[in-house]
Amino acid sequence: MNIVIFGPPGAGKGTQSSYLIKNFGLYQLSTGDLLREELKSGSELALEIEKLMNAGQLVSDEIINSLIKKKISNTSIKNKIIFDGFPRNLDQAKSLDEMLNENSQSLSLVLNLKVDYSILAKRISGRVSCSICKTTFNEFFDPPKTCSNSMCSTRTMVKRADDNLDTVSKRLKTYDESTLPILDYYSSKNIVRDIDAMSDIHSVSEQISIIIKDLKS
Ligand code: AMP
Repeated sequence: MNIVIFGPPGAGKGTQSSYLIKNFGLYQLSTGDLLREELKSGSELALEIEKLMNAGQLVSDEIINSLIKKKISNTSIKNKIIFDGFPRNLDQAKSLDEMLNENSQSLSLVLNLKVDYSILAKRISGRVSCSICKTTFNEFFDPPKTCSNSMCSTRTMVKRADDNLDTVSKRLKTYDESTLPILDYYSSKNIVRDIDAMSDIHSVSEQISIIIKDLKS
């Protein structure tokens, strides 16, 4: 089963992807993570990408599609992919369909995480993650002293460069203008399921679990 986890920045896509990995043996493909990996090369292209990310704008479809293409053809994750942060516009959604089709795959589900934008500024600007296992915490809601994962117990938390109040409003504007319209495309395929992502993490996971078990049965 391939899934798109959909929603604005700060909706909890990464957190719920971790839940899906642990409980349903799925594989997370986050274009944001792939891009942040790419930045480490320090190349000229990486600097261009970094500028766009820090401005809350989208990186070109060409770069994104080439990152995704390499992964989709990997047979070990066939039909087990959670797409997180992708697609981000209608052209990417259409490219995804083509790439999946070329690899004899399709999308089964779009999980639409619905949240009020009013809570996103705090969720995003307070977000930090463990430097080792990447588990996320929030400095306002659950200030971490050490990572809760016994495997790392680190004190080192890292913060994304674009997780600041200045960039949040630009990222939300980009989401509204470019990303939100994709929902109509997927709704016409009847694969969208709405999730109340305002509630606590466990209740959101529970809603998702019910939907997936239902689809599998
Ligand atoms: P994320 O980690 O998903 O919040 O993405 C962080 C930033 O990476 C976004 O604000 C964009 O600048 C860029 N990005 C991530 N995914 C995409 C995508 N599918 N298309 C274009 N840009 C992307």
